[in-house]
Amino acid sequence: MSLSEKRILLVDDNAAIHEDFKHILSPAAKDKDTETRFLEEELFGEKSIPQGIDASDDAVKYIIDDAHQGEEAVAMVDEAVREGRPYALAFMDVRMPPGIDGIQTIQQIWQKHAHIEMVICTAYSDYSWDQIMEKFGRTDHLMFIKKPFDAIAVKQIALSLTTKWDLDKKNREHQIELEKEVEYRTDELKKMVEHLSELKARAEADTLAKSMFLSNVSHEIRTPLNGIMGMTELLLDTELDEDQKNYTDAIKKSGDSLAAMVNDVLDYPKLEADKTPISHIDFDIRTAVEDVAELMSIRAQEKGLELAALFHAGVPEILVGDPERIRQILLNLTGNAIKFTEKGEVFIQVSLDPHGTAAGDKQIKLLFEVSDTGIGIAPQVKAKIFQSFEQADELISRQFGGTGLGLAISKKLVELMGGEIDVESEPESGSTFRFTALLDRADEIEPRKISPEKNLYGARILVLSDNPTSRKVLSLYTTHWGGNCFEAETLEQAIEVLHTSADSGASYDVTIVDYKGGDLERYVATAQEIHTYQKLINIPLVCLTAKARRGDAQFLQNHGYRGYLTKPIKQSHLYNALALLKGLLKNPQPTSEKSLITKHLAEELCNNRLYALIVDDNIVNRKILTLVLEKQGIRCDVAHNGREAVDAAAEKQYDILFMDCRMPVMDGYEATQLIRQSEKGTAVPIIAVTAAKSREEREKCIVAGMNEFISKPFKASEIVKIIAHLVEKQS
Ligand code: ADP
Repeated sequence: MSLSEKRILLVDDNAAIHEDFKHILSPAAKDKDTETRFLEEELFGEKSIPQGIDASDDAVKYIIDDAHQGEEAVAMVDEAVREGRPYALAFMDVRMPPGIDGIQTIQQIWQKHAHIEMVICTAYSDYSWDQIMEKFGRTDHLMFIKKPFDAIAVKQIALSLTTKWDLDKKNREHQIELEKEVEYRTDELKKMVEHLSELKARAEADTLAKSMFLSNVSHEIRTPLNGIMGMTELLLDTELDEDQKNYTDAIKKSGDSLAAMVNDVLDYPKLEADKTPISHIDFDIRTAVEDVAELMSIRAQEKGLELAALFHAGVPEILVGDPERIRQILLNLTGNAIKFTEKGEVFIQVSLDPHGTAAGDKQIKLLFEVSDTGIGIAPQVKAKIFQSFEQADELISRQFGGTGLGLAISKKLVELMGGEIDVESEPESGSTFRFTALLDRADEIEPRKISPEKNLYGARILVLSDNPTSRKVLSLYTTHWGGNCFEAETLEQAIEVLHTSADSGASYDVTIVDYKGGDLERYVATAQEIHTYQKLINIPLVCLTAKARRGDAQFLQNHGYRGYLTKPIKQSHLYNALALLKGLLKNPQPTSEKSLITKHLAEELCNNRLYALIVDDNIVNRKILTLVLEKQGIRCDVAHNGREAVDAAAEKQYDILFMDCRMPVMDGYEATQLIRQSEKGTAVPIIAVTAAKSREEREKCIVAGMNEFISKPFKASEIVKIIAHLVEKQS
């Protein structure tokens, strides 16, 4: 066993004690003279050092120093540490007059050197254990021995505590090593992070450069492509012989698919890099979807396919989200549906997702469906087609073209809008692609966005169509607007129903004729057949066709049609056409003969609303009238008395005035007389609104220049009737 050195400090004012401790702890303890043994026995007790027991420890060599006062001990400990030979242990006497006592000495030493082991040696206690604990706090570096000392106990304590000190020291050194190691590793990590940050910054710069490049390239490619496409379309509008037309058609088709492909290829990396922002703007969901249907209608028409779009009840008009992304997905799904369908139809539907109630009040989950009657998809490839560059069947895909990116892009976009996409399909039985999107409700709808409530007031509409989807769409829309719709599949059925209803005195207000394939002759024959019957001659006929060619509208007008609309029909166009025929809207085209109702006219009607001036001093009356009129799609201004009315009527050309008779400042009679003398007011219909019902009152109104008379309290239906009458007169 190797001999290790341990340094011990003895602190006691009694020199004899020093000798004794040294004696006990020194290996030469065996060779004691009698005097020493005597002293020893006096101090440690007679039997404390049994004869024959070797008090020395061969494994340890103690170097023992002496201090006789507390201050001296503190200085020696300091010195030893400075010299790099610290004490492992100190035996400390408590009473050492005149200087500081042992407890104070320990306190001072531990303030600087907290690891030195301490043994308090005392005959009796000057301090209670609690007092000592209070002074030092919890510590495991402290022990007590009481006089007379047991030599073996002293040896054991010296050995244990110096060994403990040694282990503690090694432990601390090890900890320092570890800390150094950790510091070194942290440093390495820091360097690595710095390096990675540099790489990341470089990669981001690269990506930015790449996306700038992509956006430049995309612009560079799209610009000439637009030129080619635009010119091709212009060329198609010129006189071309059959061959030239075929070649030009082929250029257009290739151009279209090239444009779609370029868009996909340029879009995909952006989506992959999650760089596609989803905007959050107010938009009209009908316009977004119907635009897609309209855009796709040409391709559908070329293939002889029916294309329809239907909004189920409950879908709000204005929502907050990304209309461009919704259009992009729908364009892709509808494009695919048309591409993979040779016969039949493509049907787009929008409804509230029945499983979307969890979205809460502020949000709404819409379900979009695009179904076709095409080639369908085999079960084993259904999951694959949403992956990038995957096509169900290479052979088929070669025939139809495409990049295999469309559905992967759609899936990403759907997910960005918090929705899911899926397909239900059987080979040869068509496919239905469904996707959902989470959209916000528009919380503050600006006045211009409140579209008038659509109401057809029980209009009777006959739908004659050989296409069940078309019948479904027309019937759902018209009944939703309060109309009565009858669906007829054949002309015979239609004529029978028209007859029965005419006989019962409840003629149809309009008949919509819609034939697959858009055969003009068939439309003409239908009109002729219906009009052979005198009692059916006044029922307006509206042609609905997917095959629109220049001149067809005029041709059909000459053969008895009042309306000519093209499919896919827009909800607003259908409503406007029917409302115009029913006299609920004013025809913006000032023509003496009844003009043909076309989609252009229907579109114009969206922006062509009547202007009314409400003159009343009573706020409640003004409010009620405004509400009733606005529900009819009429814009309203208000005046509080006759004077204000005269000024307003001089400023603006109103379509109708509602004039209260008794008002402060200027009454309704005088105001009407003045308005009649003004340039804008000579012909404007002025409706008297009065509480009196007498004949005299009525005459007074007529004399003043008013056209009609309603008495308070009036019914909404009276106002509607007046408006319908006005519209009819104007159209
Ligand atoms: P592509 O550009 O090839 O059309 P998509 O990702 O849009 O790429 O579609 C992937 C594949 O899914 C198509 O190649 C086709 O095989 C299949 N597919 C998509 N839509 C339909 C559909 N309506 N009917 C049948 N197959 C379809």
